[in-house]
Amino acid sequence: MSTGRMSTGKKAALGLLAAAVLLAGAWGLGLRKAPGEAVAPLQREESIGFTMGTVARVVAEGPAAGAAVAAVMQELDRLTVLLDRFRPFGDVAALNGSGGEWVTVSAEVLALLEEAVRLAELSGGAFDPTVAPVVDLWGFVEEGTYPEEEAHEHHGHGDEARPHGVPAGEPPGVLSGTGSGDAAESAAGGESGQGPARSGTSPTRLIGYAPPDPGELAAALARVDFRGLEIDAENSRARLARPGQAIDLGAIAKGYGADRAVQLLKEHGVVRALVDLGGDVYALGTRPDGTPWRLGIRHPRRAGQILGILHVSDAAVATSGDYERYFEYEGVRYSHIVDPRTGWPAMELASVTVVAPHGVWADALSTAVFVLGKEEGLALLESLPGVEGILVDKDLNVLITSGLEGKVDLLEGQ
Ligand code: AMP
Ligand code: MG
Repeated sequence: MSTGRMSTGKKAALGLLAAAVLLAGAWGLGLRKAPGEAVAPLQREESIGFTMGTVARVVAEGPAAGAAVAAVMQELDRLTVLLDRFRPFGDVAALNGSGGEWVTVSAEVLALLEEAVRLAELSGGAFDPTVAPVVDLWGFVEEGTYPEEEAHEHHGHGDEARPHGVPAGEPPGVLSGTGSGDAAESAAGGESGQGPARSGTSPTRLIGYAPPDPGELAAALARVDFRGLEIDAENSRARLARPGQAIDLGAIAKGYGADRAVQLLKEHGVVRALVDLGGDVYALGTRPDGTPWRLGIRHPRRAGQILGILHVSDAAVATSGDYERYFEYEGVRYSHIVDPRTGWPAMELASVTVVAPHGVWADALSTAVFVLGKEEGLALLESLPGVEGILVDKDLNVLITSGLEGKVDLLEGQ
């Protein structure tokens, strides 16, 4: 009963650079002044930095845009420490290391955990914040995240072949889409052929290179269940009730970061802004000419290209894709988003972009829909007021929810 629209995949006709130019042009349009016209009191500020595990880009216009953007960057650094499970001093790390005991957490983290549980329930467990044991076993964690010995212990792939020639950083300037797609594309074309029979390749320096042992996977999966995350709001504490459970907020942290960024920008009087946290975008206000922002939707198989343009204002837009963190093993692509019901990576879709009122929702739901696949994913999006999406399957068919009619331009040529 989905009202989703299907059309054939369209070839991206614009490159990444073109997408950036698109935006730059948009700003320029509104800032142009007639000769002699008074200079507007608005500042325009742009900042790009590495934070929350990605390249963050913030462009803002307002009376105190400089201070606003600086405050945002500082806030994103704070959230990195607070929410990254690999940072030893954050609330999430404390919860994971507590061996099932109650842990006092900040009101902020408590609220985010409550929201995570709500979204897990809403998605029937397709999004599950306790997915960490399975993510670790597959090795969907970048090299260097935890000590090498521990990494080997975790998934047993330590003697597998390593990928080479992989760019270390992530490309800036992506308007919508996940992190290091450029690296993914360059490697997907054929960094292969090396190593022993069980080796695979990963373009993004992941620890994992091959599916894990089925017995180990079953054991890890048994620890995944958001219902084991108990929250005692009255006493500001939480605990993981089942042995070996661990929280991974990787699927919502950047969305939360985008929400906090927007809150700070508004507090500083910013009238229009784009916040892009490597695929988690918030488009605040409109373009200077009053028309909606235009965000490029990344092509999941063509690095640096977009397959369409989304017109939005005052909305969060998050993309989950299989082209960022993944490895290839025996010709099959295994991406970093796992189905908490099976323990296996979700295989049906290549990318999901969700538009929602808040970043946390857009982020969690893009991950959830990626897991649910076309039919169930579209049904979930259609059931939620104010939430829309663009799904791209492995054959590059594009499906769009009913509420985005007229707001997406798919590029011609394929
Ligand atoms: P995203 O790129 O927002 O879709 O988030 C993906 C990240 O969230 C992964 O790198 C994992 O750390 C984590 N993750 C993977 N699968 C799930 C899932 N089904 N539910 C919640 N988090 C997940
Ligand atoms: Mg997500």
